[in-house]
Amino acid sequence: MSKLLLAIVLAATLVVGSGARAQTYDLILRNARIVDGTGSPWYRADIGIRGDTIARIAPTITVPATRVIDLGDLVASPGFIDLHTHALRGLFDAPTADNCVRQGVTMVMVGPDGSGSVVPDGMPNDAKLKPLLDRLNALPKSLNIGSFIGQGAVREAVIGLAKRQPTPAELERMRELVRQAMIDGAFGLSTGLFYVPGAFTPLSEVVELQKVVAPFRGVHTSHMREEATGVVEAVNETIAIGEQGGVPTHVSHHKVVGKVNWGKSLDTLRLIDAARQRGVDVTMDVYPYSAGSTTVQSGLLPAWAMEGGVREAKERLKDLATRSKVKEATSEILLTNFNGDPGNVVIVTCDWDTSLAGKNLGEVTRARGLDPVLENAAETVLWLVENGGCRSVHHNQGEEDLRRILAHPAAMIASDGEVAIFGRTQSTRAAMAPSPAYLRSMCVRRASSRWRKRSAK
Ligand SMILES: [Zn+2]
Repeated sequence: MSKLLLAIVLAATLVVGSGARAQTYDLILRNARIVDGTGSPWYRADIGIRGDTIARIAPTITVPATRVIDLGDLVASPGFIDLHTHALRGLFDAPTADNCVRQGVTMVMVGPDGSGSVVPDGMPNDAKLKPLLDRLNALPKSLNIGSFIGQGAVREAVIGLAKRQPTPAELERMRELVRQAMIDGAFGLSTGLFYVPGAFTPLSEVVELQKVVAPFRGVHTSHMREEATGVVEAVNETIAIGEQGGVPTHVSHHKVVGKVNWGKSLDTLRLIDAARQRGVDVTMDVYPYSAGSTTVQSGLLPAWAMEGGVREAKERLKDLATRSKVKEATSEILLTNFNGDPGNVVIVTCDWDTSLAGKNLGEVTRARGLDPVLENAAETVLWLVENGGCRSVHHNQGEEDLRRILAHPAAMIASDGEVAIFGRTQSTRAAMAPSPAYLRSMCVRRASSRWRKRSAK
């Protein structure tokens, strides 16, 4: 595997050059099976490299080279583009981004889920992309990086985290921020309609901003409003954003959350196919795991309880009547989105108590002297939020939906991961390798189905 990755990465970091002027090469990769990413069948060839440029690809290269690596049938391909990442987490500490490069990823997109230019190290959110891009430009790094401007960041900069409509002047200010970000180099506008303040944003407002993006040929990517009970409606909304805003539209980390909803990918993919057939450019990405990751507060509290962010949520919980309403909603979320099992929520990090890392919600509830029934688990969730919140992993997706989405021709692989700082990063998915995991699972699946066919004969 490591040799395969070496081959991928070597080829990936290079650019195909023209002509073969000099007589020698710095490096020849011999006997590569080249998969060039165009959809053409693979072919076998030698790759001649000079400096950082692929100078020649030919069936046989006979001239000498400083170094020759015989790939012995391994695959060489262009670098993978990771369409949905939180790579700004960790990138400034580990700019070589080893966990990305070692799995063949040579380009990452950042600013997903409506987050835009918000950098975790506390750069102020003024929804301006330029300062971030300048910092990235100055960083000695091993990845190519593209960024979206985030609708959530733009809305927060203009009207805060309040649940209300913008005034015409505020809408114009948001349009202006998006326009400036597109001029500065954003690839498009990401939305996170599941999160606050995206959850307070109506379709019409998103469409108005996408109309600004359209003339720049930008794209829309979305962490949709719903990935559980309302997942079908959410896909419809994502398609509508593209159709009404005049932009290609993209479902981020498409999944179906909660056992009661499993199977709904049949409907969502049908909607996507129908939209594509009538000319809407709809695509999706997917990570090849059946667990997702976000924060306890975003995943388990209703959006209205999070208005104003964690600080205001904590204040809100001081009111007993509101507290019991939130608790009821959280119990309901545990029931529908987590199959009624608090064990499906696993804590990754809580800044205020590192000993909670790795424990599931049932265990934390028990450790607090409570029986881990839904009501008590919901009580524990409120306690976690009152202490400042936590990051968590959620085991609530079905394997069937995952496979169905992975196999769709308009789906591509993304990690939703971050740049791992080895020895420090705790997020369980950060250092995972979705691309090799996907390739491996495809190979295993194909091999096993061939085996099944053979043994049935
Ligand atoms: Zn997301």
